[in-house]
Amino acid sequence: MSRVWNFSAGPAALPEEVLKQAAEEMLDWQGAGMGVMEMSHRGKEFTSIAEAAEADLRELMAVPDNYRILFMQGGAIAENAIIPMNLLGQHDSADYVVTGAWSAKSLKEARRYCKAHVAASAEAGGFTSVPAMTEWSLSDDPAYLFTCTNETIGGVEYPFEPDLAAIGRAEVPVVADVSSHILSRAMDVSKYGLLFGGAQKNIGPAGLTIVIVREDLLGRSVPACPTAFDYKTVADNGSMYNTPPTYGIYIAGLVFQWLKRQGGVAAIEAQNIAKAKLLYDYLDASDFYASKVDPACRSRMNVPFFLADESLNEVFLAESKAAGLVQLKGHKSVGGMRASIYNAMPLAGVQALVDFMRDFAARKG
Ligand code: PMP
Repeated sequence: MSRVWNFSAGPAALPEEVLKQAAEEMLDWQGAGMGVMEMSHRGKEFTSIAEAAEADLRELMAVPDNYRILFMQGGAIAENAIIPMNLLGQHDSADYVVTGAWSAKSLKEARRYCKAHVAASAEAGGFTSVPAMTEWSLSDDPAYLFTCTNETIGGVEYPFEPDLAAIGRAEVPVVADVSSHILSRAMDVSKYGLLFGGAQKNIGPAGLTIVIVREDLLGRSVPACPTAFDYKTVADNGSMYNTPPTYGIYIAGLVFQWLKRQGGVAAIEAQNIAKAKLLYDYLDASDFYASKVDPACRSRMNVPFFLADESLNEVFLAESKAAGLVQLKGHKSVGGMRASIYNAMPLAGVQALVDFMRDFAARKG
């Protein structure tokens, strides 16, 4: 067996230890005589898997007691509709901070449900930075303020945690799409009303959506909200109102245990800082490659970069693939290259990428 260094933005590489454990348990989970995919979601075996996964996530992120963790389906894009349907309550508007393709998409979807107001936008600068909170202009009575704290496509990550108390608007709950950097760095959950993300980058397989929501925001859904997507219904039923994505929850649970073995979020954050520094330092030192993102807002997870001579793009991709470095092509809306270096990518993988890039530049420069 030979595994590649996989720089996919998602679904993305998973820790090898997790895949091996899942393979070992595929036919017979811990003596149950059946695999996890074959278990009733209400049976004692799966109940223990789901409870452990939730408890481990709560511990890893230090989720306060007044927040509920929901395991849902639909992915982050479905949440763009599910969030307004759940949080609008008596409000008819919500505020959006637009920092890239994903928050722009969230804004567009919200407009189907409410008046969505742009509180700040980084579009004029080509989505290469995050507007400072002092520049955010909130409307009078929004149901929430929406952010995407790591823009996977543009490679822009908030260098601060949104904190509306700091601008005198503590009453407005902050919603954050953390799909592509959840568990990669410390986050103070108490600063948010709701955090959400698809699992397929830093957590596990596609099909599982994580929602972490403050309890006082439950029970505000609009009448048209589908019951299966009503956060209060999901919370009241322990994420088992409908059949949850059981296998995804199981793999997520194994990833949470792996993360705890690595030393938890603080330890993985230190590794992520080292990985990102290795790659950005090389990009900055080289005339052959460039990063276009404001250095203060560069994502530790998604690193778009460009070859000075774009006519070499195809040969760069072909040669990197031959060297066992895959999925480096940038998103079509941005172009160039993108290396996604989530928690499961070890420093050795980033080193292999930098070594390849240096060698390629020496040969073609
Ligand atoms: N938000 C962000 C920040 C993302 O990176 C993605 C997926 N790349 C999405 C939303 C959409 O997620 P999904 O396809 O799971 O709906």
